[in-house]
Amino acid sequence: MTQSSEPALRAEGITKIYAGADAPVEALRGVSLSVAQGEFVAVVGPSGCGKSTLLHISGAMDRPTAGRVSIGGRFVDELDEDGLTGLRRRQIGFVFQFFNLLPTLTVLENIALPLLLTGASPAVAAAEARLVSARVGLSGRLTHFPRQLSGGEAQRVAIARSIVHRPLLVIADEPTGNLDSVTGAQVLQLLAELNRERGVTLVLATHEAHVAAAAHRIVHMRDGLVERDGGAAA
Ligand code: ADP
Ligand code: MG
Repeated sequence: MTQSSEPALRAEGITKIYAGADAPVEALRGVSLSVAQGEFVAVVGPSGCGKSTLLHISGAMDRPTAGRVSIGGRFVDELDEDGLTGLRRRQIGFVFQFFNLLPTLTVLENIALPLLLTGASPAVAAAEARLVSARVGLSGRLTHFPRQLSGGEAQRVAIARSIVHRPLLVIADEPTGNLDSVTGAQVLQLLAELNRERGVTLVLATHEAHVAAAAHRIVHMRDGLVERDGGAAA
C-alpha cells in the first residue's frame, strides 16, 4: 500500500479550531503541505502560529476540524482505531522538545519500546536498539535511566527511539528548543545525517531560522496559515 511514488505526507486544507477557555481558537486556517519521501522539511514561524498543531495532525496524533491527511498514501480519516494505532506505531516517529522518555525504563528499553509495540521479539528489539544506540553515540549509556542523562543525551535517546522501527515519517517538534546552542547544533546535525543515511522523511518545527536552514525546504507559517513554501530561512 505504501508506494515510493506517494508523498510521505500530504495535508490538504487543514483547519483546526480548539474549544479554548473563553472563545474558540482558530489554530490552523487552511494549511496544505506535501512532503516527499526522504525529504527534510522545516516548518518555521513565531510561537503560536500553529506549528505544533500542524505537526500533531500530520503525525495522526490529533484530528483536524476540516481537511485531510494522508501518510504514505493512506488517508488517516479512513482508518478505524486499530488501523490508526498501527499507523502510528509503524509509520511514525516523534521527537519532542522535552524528550518525553519513560523515566522507569533504561536507555536501551526506551529505544527498544517502539519495536516491541510492533510485535518484534525482545531479542530482536534489543539487538536493533543496540545498533541504533551505537549510531547516535549512546553505547556507553544503555543501562542508564533518563534522569541520569544530560539534555543532549536524552534527546539522542529520543531520536534513536524515533527511528528504531524504521518509520516512514519522523516528526520533530522544536527538538533543539530545550538545549544549549552547541548541543542543539549536534542534535540537529544528527537528525540531518539520519535523514540522509536512512532516507527517513523528516518534518521539523522550529522558531529559529538557523535551525530551519539545515532543511531541504522551509515552510513559513504565520497566524495559522502557510505564508511561504520554500526559500530561505530569514
Ligand atoms: P506553535 O507550535 O507554533 O507555537 P501551536 O500549534 O502550539 O503553535 O498553537 C497555535 C494556537 O493554538 C495558539 O494560539 C495556541 O494558544 C492554541 N492552542 C494550541 N493548543 C491548544 C489547545 N489544546 N487548546 C486551546 N488552544 C490551543
Ligand atoms: Mg509549538
